[in-house]
Amino acid sequence: MAKQGTINVTSENIFPVIKKFMYSDHEIFLRELVSNAVDATQKLKTVARAGDFQGDVENLKVYIKVDAAAGTLTVSDNGIGMTAEELDKYINQIAFSGATEFLEKYKKDGANIIGHFGLGFYSSFMVAKKVEIRSKSWKENEPATLWTCEGDVNFTMDECEKAERGTDIVLYLDDESKEEFTNKHKVETLLKKYCRYLPVPVVFGKKTEWKDGKEVDTVEDNQINETSPLWIKAPADIKDEEYLKFYHDLYPMAPDPLFWIHLNVDFPFHLTGILYFPKIENNEFRRDRIQLYCNQVFVTDQVEGVVPEFMMLLHGVIDSPDIPLNVSRSYLQSDSNVKKISGYITKKVADRLVEIFNADRQEFENKWDDLKIFIQYGMLLDEKFFDKVKTIALVKNCEGHYYTLEEYQKLVEGNQTDKEGELIYLYTNDKVAHYSYIEGAKAKGYDVLEAAGQLDMPLMNHLEEKSMRADDKDAKKCHYRRIDSDTLSNLIKKADAKKVNFTEAQNREYNALFATQIPECLNNEGKAVEWTVDFQAMDETDQPVLVSQNEWMRRMKEMSRLQGGGGMNFYGQMPDQYNLVVNTEHPTVKRILENAAKELTMSLAQTASDISTKNDQIKPLEEEKYKAKAGEFPTDKDNLLNELRKDVDNLKATEKQKVADYAKGDKTLRQLIDLALLQGGMLKGEALAEFIRRSQEML
Ligand code: ADP
Repeated sequence: MAKQGTINVTSENIFPVIKKFMYSDHEIFLRELVSNAVDATQKLKTVARAGDFQGDVENLKVYIKVDAAAGTLTVSDNGIGMTAEELDKYINQIAFSGATEFLEKYKKDGANIIGHFGLGFYSSFMVAKKVEIRSKSWKENEPATLWTCEGDVNFTMDECEKAERGTDIVLYLDDESKEEFTNKHKVETLLKKYCRYLPVPVVFGKKTEWKDGKEVDTVEDNQINETSPLWIKAPADIKDEEYLKFYHDLYPMAPDPLFWIHLNVDFPFHLTGILYFPKIENNEFRRDRIQLYCNQVFVTDQVEGVVPEFMMLLHGVIDSPDIPLNVSRSYLQSDSNVKKISGYITKKVADRLVEIFNADRQEFENKWDDLKIFIQYGMLLDEKFFDKVKTIALVKNCEGHYYTLEEYQKLVEGNQTDKEGELIYLYTNDKVAHYSYIEGAKAKGYDVLEAAGQLDMPLMNHLEEKSMRADDKDAKKCHYRRIDSDTLSNLIKKADAKKVNFTEAQNREYNALFATQIPECLNNEGKAVEWTVDFQAMDETDQPVLVSQNEWMRRMKEMSRLQGGGGMNFYGQMPDQYNLVVNTEHPTVKRILENAAKELTMSLAQTASDISTKNDQIKPLEEEKYKAKAGEFPTDKDNLLNELRKDVDNLKATEKQKVADYAKGDKTLRQLIDLALLQGGMLKGEALAEFIRRSQEML
């Protein structure tokens, strides 16, 4: 007897809403229908296991067919089927109210549940103008039923002819969807995306072959999926080649992974999966590489919240029925199951790393350069992970030897502890550019770390801060200093430095002597760098002149570059500042200074004395002005003060010019400066050409 009816009790027609809201993600209807079909076959197995159904459950399959001429897409299964009564209950009532509820949620939080589960059977109306269900239950003597609905709240139900047990869902595609979802290639791609690892064979037409220049069907079913994917198998039964093959099935273009972890938990939640440590090439990080499955149905590759942030660099699959899939991400992060899952994965990964380190240190070292970005990222973001892997995190020195943090501390603490008892680690980010600095350090018996990785600097910062915060009083405080950031005796201060004793006039004169002879140097952005000349009484065997850049300032600028401005922008805008460090104890420098003094003292004597006299006049005036209340400092005195200051500026300029004229003729002085710049990789262009010319002359 034919039945007509109105779906459930709802005032609103939800069909237009389904079409509109789900528009961006409408392909998921296929996943929903195939999942239902798979469920129907699983249910039949359950009924068979209970002994109620005696028929064959070996050959359960799901078929997808497209018919471009008719404009239909059909999903069929030979599963449990539905009686007319069940159809009415499950489709007209339960599924419909399920879909209504889903849409309510969706309206509130659309962006977050897109692609996640929920809409079910009614998602077919995202692409179809009419849907037919033909179903025949496993129960004997139940007639088959045809259910029809044309995308409004009215449906019809009638008996129909259907020989085989199971359900066909026939979608009459609407005009916008017809072309897309009757396109074999497109549908196959979608099936591969969502159904690739479903537990029941999903068949899409026949395999094809080329015959007489044409692609023709063979007799063999075109099965889309692998019904028992690797992650559900017992790890003990799996060979390495199988793990590698699975990896390459997932990521055909990727190079072999470094290693993998097979996850398998039953309690307090269910989770299986395989995570791979990828070999990262060209610093290319992709965060959409872990695929999330729910009972072998692909859900998403957006795993934020489920997997800790730093684990998102891993590849592979996670399958868990316990991750709530149809809720928003912010909810996901606070879900206690998800938190446990995330914690579990972190622990597992850390344990595995320690295991590999202990089992084969050499192998671990071989892979360290590829691995370290991942481990360092984790150490920076997750304190628990830090504690687990701190014993296996490695550093590499310029000779290419690897040490754990503890080993390295033992190696250098004898020689590289400064007079305050703090440990100084020296590092370079560019072995070639810093070659001579490194050689200098080695000559003193110091060791230099190579730290050119993207996260080396942030991690060194982190370790430094941790050492400063250490509650344990005996724990050593440490600093990381780049090898070119100061003179060696300043980098690791062993004793108080000898003082440089210049008079004020000498100070001005010697400063100008060097400062006026530094050629213009441009930074990477093409801006001129600023210089400070710094006289230091180092060892006479130390270098005569060298270039250094303040470690702290440089780090601030680097961080500001990494963060692309923001709060650190202030530092980003500062000019690059370098020091020209002049060793006053070096014999050549001594000679340069003595010569300059001899040549210049006479000609500068008058200016110097004028400056000094005027300064003597300025001082009391400045004091008076400072003490005076606002507006009470006499104007004539103020004018005099300004006059005197201007005079001093002019005198200093004259003095500087005289020094510069003299210095220009001192080739040794200019040679020393250029050598220091050359060593620091800063001598370029015209300045370099000038240096070469001068060197040839001097030969
Ligand atoms: P859900 O699958 O989340 O329960 P659906 O709207 O997709 O929601 O389906 C509602 C119900 O309709 C299912 O629970 C199931 O009982 C029934 N159903 C849907 N598709 C099939 C099918 N192919 N075979 C048998 N029953 C089905």
